[in-house]
Order: sequence, then structure tokens, then C-alpha cells
Amino acid sequence: MSSRATYNVPYDTSERERRKKAFIRRRKRKRLMVIMSFFAVALVLVIAIIALTVGLIKKLINEHNEKMTYNDYVGQYSEIWLVDNSNAGKGDQGAFFVIEQTDETKEKVNAKALKYKDIVPGSKGLVIVDAGHGGYDGGAEGNGLLEKTLNLEISYLLKDELLLRGYTVHMTRPTDEFVGLTQRASIANSLDNPVCLISIHQNSLDESEGSASGMESWTYDREGCKELGDAVVEATAKRTGSNNRGTHFRKNLVVTSKTTMPAIIFECGYVTDKSDAEKLGNRAYQEKIAEGIVDGIDNFVASFYDN
Ligand SMILES: [Zn+2]
Repeated sequence: MSSRATYNVPYDTSERERRKKAFIRRRKRKRLMVIMSFFAVALVLVIAIIALTVGLIKKLINEHNEKMTYNDYVGQYSEIWLVDNSNAGKGDQGAFFVIEQTDETKEKVNAKALKYKDIVPGSKGLVIVDAGHGGYDGGAEGNGLLEKTLNLEISYLLKDELLLRGYTVHMTRPTDEFVGLTQRASIANSLDNPVCLISIHQNSLDESEGSASGMESWTYDREGCKELGDAVVEATAKRTGSNNRGTHFRKNLVVTSKTTMPAIIFECGYVTDKSDAEKLGNRAYQEKIAEGIVDGIDNFVASFYDN
């Protein structure tokens, strides 16, 4: 032992120790790296598997929901609620939602939903509902009625009817606010592939112009517009028993001339006519107007798009 001790040079020993330690350190670091890499890869894999599974489940749920009719919903829930999906994002269209929390609405929606029980919600495309005037712009006045208010009331009924019959809806003016005509047109043009646009208005006549009553469509000479106007005014006059005053071309109306889809201004009646005004202020009559308009849209879709 003593001879070996003298054989070893002190410098060499420390150098070997240092190298050995360095080697051990490197090996430890390498092992740590391998272990860490393994855990990193495992973590990525686990996240990927979770993401894929969640995605798959979501897809299956969506596919299932897309095929659900009102009947399925009625079967699934004791109460059926209509979704207010106006102005919803693209992916949200066609889902269910609450209109108003009243027993009356609930019953009515249930009854109507049962009537259209085989319709797949949101399956028939997007309709743009444009409530005319609003905010400081009241529109026509007569017999205690203000146009902007009637327009909004009828537009909401129209929206509900459209949703029940399988359309999705976008409202350009969902509240009593002023929305410019150019803005309405650009909102409409920004939407993805709409079926048509219905702008709700009320007509009026100065006393000096005599008297008039009934409903009519105003539109622009563009593909589908005249057909839409005729279909809507015909079906709505039929539903309400009102006077069909036909479809007329008007060149300077922004909402119909600056839009790209079939678009009409629908004049529901004359607020200045006593008999029309009395009916227009009545909720049941407003509902008939909404039903008639959707009948017209259905007829228009069947002849214009489906052929
Ligand atoms: Zn108007």
C-alpha cells in the first residue's frame, strides 16, 4: 500500500477525481435530460389525447343536435323553449333559448313547436329581419300608432315564427335605437349566405292624398326581389284578409338597392287608415302578419331556390 501511495502523484489523483466527478455530473445531467424529455413527451401525448377525445365528443354531440327536430326536443324536455339566436355567432345558430319567462309565451311556443315538430331548427337558412326606423326616427304616425314601435313588435313576432319554422334570424335593429340605412345594408351584406331580407314598415298617407288601406312590398329590380315581394304580400294578405296592393319597384331605397340578397320592404298596412290601424295595433293580427310573411318566404324558397 505504501509503495502504491508513493507511486501515485498527488496532481494525477486530483485530476482523475475531478474528471470522474465531471463524468458523473455529465451522466447525471444526461439521465435527468432523458427523464425530463420522457415526461415532456408523455405530457404532450396526454394533452393531445384529451384534446382529441373532447373534440370527438363535441363533434358527436353537434352531429346529434343538428339532426334533432322540435319533436325530439319535445320528447326530451317537458317544456320547449325557443332560442333567441338573433345576432348569434355562426356556430350558435339554431340552438334553443328562452324568449320570455311568462306562462303565456311558454304555452304558445309549446303549441307552435308541436305544430312544426318535424322541422330541424336552423335547417332552412338565414333570414335578415330589418325593423324600419327607430330611436329619434319614429317613422309614420297615425291613429295613436307610431311606426317604429309597430315595426319592432312585428319584427320580433316574425323572428319567433322564423325560428319555429326552421330558419335562423339576424335582426339589424333589435332595440329602439337609430340604425342608419347604409349601416343596415352593410350589416346585411356582411352576413353569410342569407336567404332574404325583410324590412318591416308601416305605410301612411296625407289626408290630402285621399285614403288607402292594405299591404304592399317595395323592392329593387334585382334577381329574386320581385318574386320575394309577390310571395310575401300574397301569403300575408291571404292570412290576414287584408288588401293585396302588390309589389312595386322603388329605385332610391337603400335597404333594397344596396343589398345583395333578395330583399323587400314590407308595408304591413296604413297607420293613417282607421280600420288598418285598429288591426295593426292588435297582437293577434300582428302574429298573423308574421305567419303570413313566413308562409311567403317558404313559398319563395320553394320556387326560387329549390327549383
Ligand atoms: Zn317606414
